[in-house]
Amino acid sequence: MSRRSWISVAASVACFAVLTAGAGQSAEGDPEFTFGEIVDVAPDVLLVVGRDIDLGKGEIDVANALLYKSGTTLVVVDTGGTAEFAGYLDAAAKRLAPFDDVVLISTHGHADHVGNNAWIDTLGVPATHLISTHDLGVMRDQVGYFSSSLGEVLAQDIVDLFGGLDTEAETMRVIESLPLQALTLGGTAWSGWSLLDGDVFVLRTAGHTAGHVVVFLAGPKLLHLGDETTSWYQAFSDGTAAGPAGNLLTLQRAANAVASGAVDLVTDGHTFRVLGGDDAIAFLNRLIGGAVAFDAAVTRILNENPGGLAVPDLVAKVVDAPEMADVPGGPTNPYNYLQMTNKLRELGVIRPVNPTSTTAFPD
Ligand SMILES: [Zn+2]
Repeated sequence: MSRRSWISVAASVACFAVLTAGAGQSAEGDPEFTFGEIVDVAPDVLLVVGRDIDLGKGEIDVANALLYKSGTTLVVVDTGGTAEFAGYLDAAAKRLAPFDDVVLISTHGHADHVGNNAWIDTLGVPATHLISTHDLGVMRDQVGYFSSSLGEVLAQDIVDLFGGLDTEAETMRVIESLPLQALTLGGTAWSGWSLLDGDVFVLRTAGHTAGHVVVFLAGPKLLHLGDETTSWYQAFSDGTAAGPAGNLLTLQRAANAVASGAVDLVTDGHTFRVLGGDDAIAFLNRLIGGAVAFDAAVTRILNENPGGLAVPDLVAKVVDAPEMADVPGGPTNPYNYLQMTNKLRELGVIRPVNPTSTTAFPD
């Protein structure tokens, strides 16, 4: 492949891949809910529905937000992005009013989850924002963060589609400054941070990003998985081999927690449905199966080509691999290149500086 065509492919792939939209990963079929819909998930729990990226319409992706009233506290999980979505958050908060204070938990620092953080200071009550220290960098410099994988121009263009990001609430605490505790959900062990006398548990997962957390609401037995479910292999694990492994562990623990009855409902950042019981387990198991299949396919192809392969050729072979035939979202998905660079790093394969030179397991 010529350098020119590599660049155009990489750019078009990157457009879709950026900011973790669920495109191509809609394992649950057509979305059940539409953008801005406020869904009654359980008593005192509302899901404010986001959307996928649609560059044809100039629309950036927006993650779902979850609102929960625990006693007299409004708990908000993620704030999406765009001024339009802030209006939907307002409408949802009104439905849970009155409340005495607000706690915002950011699952991670990507723009489509933190774009309206300052909105919590408009609610007229004391408000605190919690986010992992590991994701502060990306929250505060989206363009700088995404430039490393997309290039600065494209990263800026994509971030501009939000029409401005208000990521800074007046009062922010890094979640790691709270005492870390253990939580067992149906025999699965987690660690994280207990809030509101244990009614809300923030669980450390670190698969999708280095600081990613998920949230368990004890009353409704709801597990909000943020972006740990965006794919069967994480495209944005921030260069840590622990990312994909942490993600897989999260999916497995979540499936077990549902199967045991400790979790009744599962929501996430980019699935526009509420899953429970067997549907949730099947969804999680399809992602787990995809991770295993991808691992098997890449490893087999690299071993069959000891002389090395160019990354685009490796991606093409994985797309056609029989292992990938039943993987959710199909074998082609817009994350291919970013996923592959993470996978090569994870497998200990030296990635070529020039994408057209070859890559292989070291001798
Ligand atoms: Zn994300």
